Amino acid sequence: MAKKLHNIDTLHISEARFIGEEGRVTFVQPALEGEYLRPGRVAYDKDTHYKKLVCSHCSVRVDFNKGAGVNSGGANLRGSRPHFKTAPKQEHEKNCDLPKLNHQHSDSEIDTSIGFRIHLNADFNAPLNHGKPVYERGKGGKVVANDDRLKPVEKIIDLGQGQTKTINVYRESLVVRNVNDIVNVMRRGELERLKDSLVVNNVAVPWNRFAILGENRLRNLVHRLRNGASHPVMLKVGLYQPADGNYAESAKVFFERTEKGASFIIPRVYMDSPDAADAFPSRGEYLVLGLPKLSFNKQGGAYFLNISLKDAACVAPYFEGQILAEAKMRDERRLALAL
Ligand SMILES: [Zn+2]
Repeated sequence: MAKKLHNIDTLHISEARFIGEEGRVTFVQPALEGEYLRPGRVAYDKDTHYKKLVCSHCSVRVDFNKGAGVNSGGANLRGSRPHFKTAPKQEHEKNCDLPKLNHQHSDSEIDTSIGFRIHLNADFNAPLNHGKPVYERGKGGKVVANDDRLKPVEKIIDLGQGQTKTINVYRESLVVRNVNDIVNVMRRGELERLKDSLVVNNVAVPWNRFAILGENRLRNLVHRLRNGASHPVMLKVGLYQPADGNYAESAKVFFERTEKGASFIIPRVYMDSPDAADAFPSRGEYLVLGLPKLSFNKQGGAYFLNISLKDAACVAPYFEGQILAEAKMRDERRLALAL
């Protein structure tokens, strides 16, 4: 009977993910209105969430169960609380670490040698570049990817005696909400995987188009914005002095020389809310998360790369050497363990 206890269908799941069509993630608690919610969580709302929730660690659909509603003198009896359960006849993906179980019959796996699928859960009001959301809801409430780069790769497994089986291989998915979350991913080491990663917000962009940490990437970004691209970035900003006034201006970078002369890129971050007013208290380097917009000043030959900052969590001091040293240390430790 011990096995029965571990049946995934009977697991009470305390948190679910809601993925909006822009790829934005909300964590939902099976709490009803007025109940305690953990920080950053929202209560279950039937109108919004019915048949649209997935496991917090994989893409299986989970459904709300209001529980038995038994209340024993203020203390709810175990098992009677509202909870989430996997949808009928569906199971968690093989590498879902929620149930901590082996899914012997699963037909999917996560490839931990390739890049991540990094979900950037923040709202920058970026338009959809191709008019089509990167994720949509398919049959049975499962979330399916429209972007080919986000789709699983099929792998054929030889079972012997002429028998084969096809399994879906996915990228490992990570959810980030702010600059510190992204810095923590960088600290993990695995820099080769990071370079191979896709960052998903309203569209999916490769890491090197998202993390604008050097002058070449900055120039490439300006080329893309001139051609109509629009997506959030994490921009490295270098300040010679603390920002005073309503914006912080980074050192200008040479862009190109044409017959009309040389042009430059000047990144500017506008502190557009009281929350962000003191975002740059000292000189030094910062990482800023936001949606860049381009404006060209003909006279000065300057491309202003403007980011409107509304949330203090979208900026953090950047200690590149420290982060890289930590990443390298973790990488070496991993390598040593593998030898
Ligand atoms: Zn799961």
